[in-house]
Amino acid sequence: MAKSSTTQLFLQSPQLGFAPRSITLSSNLTLSHLKLSQTPTLNKSLLDSLYFSFNGRPLPDSTLLSSLPSRSTLLLLLRLRGGGGDGGATGAESRDCYLSMYLSKKPDKVDPNEKRLSKWTTCALSGEPLVHPVVIDRLGNIFNKEPLVESLLKKTLPKAFRHIRGLKDMFPVNLEQIPGAEEYKSETRFQCPISGLEFNGKYPFFALRGCGHVISSKALREVKSSACLVCHKEYSELDKIVINGSEDEVNVLRERMEEERGKVKEKREKKRVGDEKGDVLENGKKESKRFKALDIAPANANKAVYASIFTSSNKGDFKETYSCRSLPLGRN
Ligand SMILES: [Zn+2]
Repeated sequence: MAKSSTTQLFLQSPQLGFAPRSITLSSNLTLSHLKLSQTPTLNKSLLDSLYFSFNGRPLPDSTLLSSLPSRSTLLLLLRLRGGGGDGGATGAESRDCYLSMYLSKKPDKVDPNEKRLSKWTTCALSGEPLVHPVVIDRLGNIFNKEPLVESLLKKTLPKAFRHIRGLKDMFPVNLEQIPGAEEYKSETRFQCPISGLEFNGKYPFFALRGCGHVISSKALREVKSSACLVCHKEYSELDKIVINGSEDEVNVLRERMEEERGKVKEKREKKRVGDEKGDVLENGKKESKRFKALDIAPANANKAVYASIFTSSNKGDFKETYSCRSLPLGRN
């Protein structure tokens, strides 16, 4: 009974590197099904160039298995097309190129080109296409602002983005739209406003932290200026954030981030030490005097340090701190 509904065949394909194999399939299927069952990982254009041959005769894919003599040996062959004729290439060469090109491609491997492009056209967090308002973080990742802020508030940021601790760690950027990109469903939708290079990962781009303009490295290199080439706002090297940079570039940005955070922390601590001393040492009456002193502080003086000149003059309670140790008034 099983014999009547199935067909047993032998299949060989030296070109595809198949060892001869025995296959039993339902008789009402076609060669097209057989082909798919044996080469599920090949893409369509390669599938289309494969055909079966029996006794030296090519068979159309629509051939029913039931129409073949049982236990036939079929060859799966690659149809050669085009190429050659110039004396430089032989069929064997072109076939090898073709095969290695397709067969070396693992089915689960993401095309590196697609991966690169998606990094430059979609939000690093949500994977959605980039739509303004767009922000970058201190490491040059690019996001749609909305999902990033939402994730930040809900504390659901993945580990890779935990360095984003608040709104101060995201900078709005201004991506220049390619005219007509939406209309033509172009894969790349943004470009350098100066050079016109596409924002697709093939060219390095920098975002300027002050104004948010995103400009190709090429344009920044060619037009030597310390002002943004678009809005003419001054920027320093530290304001340049390379977008989707290499590992080394990201490491530099990370160091810069730690450094800047260290400075902010230091500043805050200095201020705190100054304030605490004031609270401990001053009673209400003197407090008002202290504010007067602060009010006349030189414009460029650090107010906390300036205040400490007055608050540390009580020698009994005086303790050296980082913020006032170098002031002679405190020492004497
Ligand atoms: Zn600008």
